[in-house]
Amino acid sequence: MSEEQSQEQKKNPAVTYLGPCPICGKGQIAEGNVVYRCNYIKNLKDDKCDFHIFKTYNGAEITPEHVKQLLENGKTEIIEFTSQAGNKFNGYLTIEGKEVKMEFANGLENLPQLETPCPICGEPVYIFNTGYGCKNIHETDENGEKKCNLWISKTIAGRTIKEKEAEQLLLEKKTSFLDGFRNNQGNLFSTRLVLDNEGNIHFDSTVCKCPKCGGDVKIGNKSYNCSNWKTTGCTFNIWREIAYRKITPEEVQQLCEEKATKILEGFKNKDKSKTFSGQLILSDDFVVKIL
Ligand SMILES: [Zn+2]
Ligand SMILES: [Zn+2]
Ligand SMILES: [Zn+2]
Repeated sequence: MSEEQSQEQKKNPAVTYLGPCPICGKGQIAEGNVVYRCNYIKNLKDDKCDFHIFKTYNGAEITPEHVKQLLENGKTEIIEFTSQAGNKFNGYLTIEGKEVKMEFANGLENLPQLETPCPICGEPVYIFNTGYGCKNIHETDENGEKKCNLWISKTIAGRTIKEKEAEQLLLEKKTSFLDGFRNNQGNLFSTRLVLDNEGNIHFDSTVCKCPKCGGDVKIGNKSYNCSNWKTTGCTFNIWREIAYRKITPEEVQQLCEEKATKILEGFKNKDKSKTFSGQLILSDDFVVKIL
């Protein structure tokens, strides 16, 4: 420590210097209220150093020990950060140019990728511990705006989102209808996931139009039913399983639009002793029958 610095430290014993400034080489880094900053100021206008390290990055507290690591080694140990979506991830701070930057612990390039690139910005989508995220989710443009929002959590409403489901969401901007989600009350529900142009994910449980009233037919736990039942009392309903055979949303759509499905295999009679094929048809009073 130079004589000058020890003089200053005597004057202000609360200041602890964490090490010499890696940018200007003239000042020392000291802890302030919001940032750790270089104390070099000869002339406020053109001879001062702006180097600073924020005390929090992505929800993680940066300790004086981290700052010492950064000054001595050019990077900190691995720190657990939290993304804006609330997901934890590992990274470290490093110095790039004259700025402190956060890097992913693994080096993003070493992470596995999905096959389909980000439909919003075209960059690769990486498989993180807790979700599928665009390369650009932690990057900002010159205006400080996030470059891309695309983040598909690996758990949505209590349900695990598999890689092939994430691929489908990226490729088609929507998934097939998926079962096994749970709402805040803990009740199961089915829905497809839909990706909008901003990279946000929405639920959409609408299968097709109701042939009886023109409302939306939605997928429920046990049946496909008209969403107008609460308002107009429309009772249009198709069971998700008929004669021991699962009825797919595509079959429901065909049935509602054309009043008949193609011939479907795999129905069973009451005691399951016989398997048979048939067409589902919609009668004039909107009842489903097997023909
Ligand atoms: Zn400096
Ligand atoms: Zn993107
Ligand atoms: Zn209806």
